[in-house]
Amino acid sequence: MKRVPIIAGNWKLNLTEEESIKLVREIHYNLPFSGEVEVIIAPTLLNLSSIAKHLKKSYIAVSAQNMYFEDKGAFTGECSGKFIKEAGADYVIIGHSERRQFFFETDEIINKKIKAAFRNNLIPIFCIGETLKERESGEVETKIEQQVLNGLIGIKQEEIQKLIIAYEPVWAIGTGTTASPEQVENVHKMIRDLLFTKYGELAEYTRIIYGGSVKSSNSKELLSLPNIDGALVGGASLKAEDFINIILNAGGSKLC
Ligand code: PEP
Repeated sequence: MKRVPIIAGNWKLNLTEEESIKLVREIHYNLPFSGEVEVIIAPTLLNLSSIAKHLKKSYIAVSAQNMYFEDKGAFTGECSGKFIKEAGADYVIIGHSERRQFFFETDEIINKKIKAAFRNNLIPIFCIGETLKERESGEVETKIEQQVLNGLIGIKQEEIQKLIIAYEPVWAIGTGTTASPEQVENVHKMIRDLLFTKYGELAEYTRIIYGGSVKSSNSKELLSLPNIDGALVGGASLKAEDFINIILNAGGSKLC
């Protein structure tokens, strides 16, 4: 089955509002049409609303980088799916390795966030991935299986079709070291098989994207693999030319 590829840019805590607007304008000016590729950018939370307004009539959708699992109440400093949706986002990154590492997010918390995202009509980009230590000690399969199954407890059949899973080996994020095409394809195939066991044929609809030092130079080969439905891009999404080349390598087109 043909799944529409996704290229998502995670800007992390990097750009001011002015810089963010400049970058989206540059992307849009140089690539006015993305063809058969779904393009998403994730600015900082504070800039979500203004960037969403800027992109309203464009092909670029907006994502939050995180969310809280309760919708409202006495949770000082948090932001929920309800407000993220209202700000104009349609997606939310959940369980990024930086959230797991620096903010101690567990599989249980991530599962609650995935449920809260669906409840608020947001599509979760659910991140999973092993550390270098886990890879070197042969624990990739166990770790990935544990993250997928725990993260998806209670997720409904109709939700699994919309879900996006981002496989991001922790050792490849922001390091310049990309997982080899063979390593990526093996893990993506394993995730797809796991989804099949749990959800049957519906697993065919879930998009499984790769993240970890994706650049314009390595994106063509990675994005041509059968079980890779796109990329979650950090560093290279901060430069219009690099990000556009990755979109084009995913099958995008400059033609209207
Ligand atoms: C990320 O943070 O999700 C990521 C993949 O970063 P980078 O592309 O910089 O490795």
